[in-house]
Amino acid sequence: MAHRSWQTCTQTATTVVGLLISHSLLAQPVSEDFSANPTAAGSSEPSVHPRYVVDARQPKWPDGVINYYYNPVNQPAQISTDQMLNLIQTAGRKWENVCNVRFNYLGTQTAEPDVNATFGTIDRINVIGWQALTGNKSGFDGYVAWWYDGVGPNLVDADMVINSDAGERLAGDQKGLGALITHEMGHMLAIKHSDEQTSVMFATPYNTYAFQNTLRGDDAAACASLYGYSSLSSANRVFNWAEQTFPQFFAPTGINSLDLGGYHYRYFPATNSYLAAKDNALIYLPVGGSLTPLGEVEQYLAPAIAAGF
Ligand SMILES: [Zn+2]
Repeated sequence: MAHRSWQTCTQTATTVVGLLISHSLLAQPVSEDFSANPTAAGSSEPSVHPRYVVDARQPKWPDGVINYYYNPVNQPAQISTDQMLNLIQTAGRKWENVCNVRFNYLGTQTAEPDVNATFGTIDRINVIGWQALTGNKSGFDGYVAWWYDGVGPNLVDADMVINSDAGERLAGDQKGLGALITHEMGHMLAIKHSDEQTSVMFATPYNTYAFQNTLRGDDAAACASLYGYSSLSSANRVFNWAEQTFPQFFAPTGINSLDLGGYHYRYFPATNSYLAAKDNALIYLPVGGSLTPLGEVEQYLAPAIAAGF
């Protein structure tokens, strides 16, 4: 994206504005289901327990930083290490967009992920890699185990195994594999399976992978309950809602947010369009068309939350 393209056109294209605005006017009140603090003072709504699940002791990574490695051993021939790293970093970025965490990639690693370890045998190296999942784990495409100490409590190790017995199938659907990794990285943050069926962190049966490529409000609330919301969470929750609700303008789903020149944005290659936020303003730009102010980000947050984002 050329920075200049944001500044050149100010003519208003009414179609997308009308569609987004009318949707916001039709929005229902914000559901308490997605609130991390459902009993907030002043709420007249009945208290509804959040549906996400975290450990009762709420272990977390110190400062929200997860240093991790990738081990390419057993990686299927149908996918390259660069492709895997792109999927992993894209998935991590989705979590970073909504809550105060940072997946910090440190390189490839020969240490293997060990999801059968005990606290006494963990290596305290966070590794993502491929192995044949066996025994009661053999039915899973991916599996994460994590451990925490008595201090904090702080997470001290988290490993992700992607099932190499399903390697050809998984590598043959990289969008699906990215969605699987997004779910498993939620576990690496110490988020358990949600009771909310629309959540990416819901357990079996999983939602479709196309669905699971976009985090939902319940996922954001789960992560924020441990690490706090990120400063750009509102913009990203609106982006998430937009890409799943208005495919005619924003496709495909699962696009990474980027930053340039003060804009936080997603570029959607299938529709050749940008959705951006700057200084709490939401902006739409079809490439070759007009830069279109849509109003304030916060104006769209309530309908986004009501729609499950
Ligand atoms: Zn899971």
